Amino acid sequence: MLSRSNPATADLVVAIDGPSSSGKSTVARRVASALGLRYLDTGAMYRAVTWWMLDQGIDLADTERVAALVGQVPVRMGMDPASPTVHVGETDVAAAIRESRISAAVSQIATNLTVRADLVARQREIAAEGGVIIEGRDITTVVAPEAPVRVLLTASEDERLARRAHELHGSVDDSAVAATRDEVLRRDADDSTVASFQDAAEGVDVVDSSQMSLNDVVAAVLELVEKRTGIAP
Ligand code: C5P
Repeated sequence: MLSRSNPATADLVVAIDGPSSSGKSTVARRVASALGLRYLDTGAMYRAVTWWMLDQGIDLADTERVAALVGQVPVRMGMDPASPTVHVGETDVAAAIRESRISAAVSQIATNLTVRADLVARQREIAAEGGVIIEGRDITTVVAPEAPVRVLLTASEDERLARRAHELHGSVDDSAVAATRDEVLRRDADDSTVASFQDAAEGVDVVDSSQMSLNDVVAAVLELVEKRTGIAP
C-alpha cells in the first residue's frame, strides 16, 4: 500500500539503476509494495515524452525544437506499485509507450540534455517528498545521489537478451534474441553516453541478478534497505 500505511518509510528514498531488461521495474515494484513506498518508473517518463513528440509530429532529430517543447508535456505518473499508471494529459499511454517504435526512438529523446534537465527536475520534486522507490539510469548518481539506499541492478548480457526476447516474442530462440538486440544493446550503448549505469558509483550497492530468482533479488534489495536504514518490511 502507499506510504501512509508505513510511517517508518514515509521519508525514505530508494534509488535503483540498471541497464534495460535488468529486471529493475519488477523488483522495484515488489520492494515498494513490501515497504509501503510509492514507485516511480522514470523510463516511463522518457517514453511518455517520446510518445507525445511523435504524436505531435515533431522530428526527434530537431533537438532544439524538442528542447523547446519538453516543458509542455503533461506527463502524469500514478505511483501505486500495485497498479502504476502513465498518462499524458488525459490519455492513458501505459500500453503505447511499450511499443517497439517508442523503444527504438526513446534514446534520441533521452540523450537530449534539455529533456534530461526537465525530467530530472520533475523526478527530484517527487524524491523530495520521500516515501518512494525510484528506478532508472541516473537515479543513484543524478536524481537522488543522497538517497540512503542506492542499488545498481545488473544482469549478464545473455540473460538480459533472453529476458527481453521472452517478454517481446514469448520465446528465446535465436531469431527472437536477434530481434531483441536493438532493443537492449544498441539502446544501452546510446543511453550510456548520457548516464553511467554500467558501473556502480561510490557507495552504490551492486546486485547481479543473472543467476538469481526474482524472489531472491527482491530479498537482496530488502536486505540492503535494512542494512542501510534499519527498516524492514
Ligand atoms: O527503463 P526503460 O527501458 O523503460 O527506459 C526507457 C529509456 O528511457 C531508456 O532507454 C533511456 O533512454 C531512458 N532513461 C533515461 N534515464 C532514466 C530512465 C530512462 O535516460 N533515468
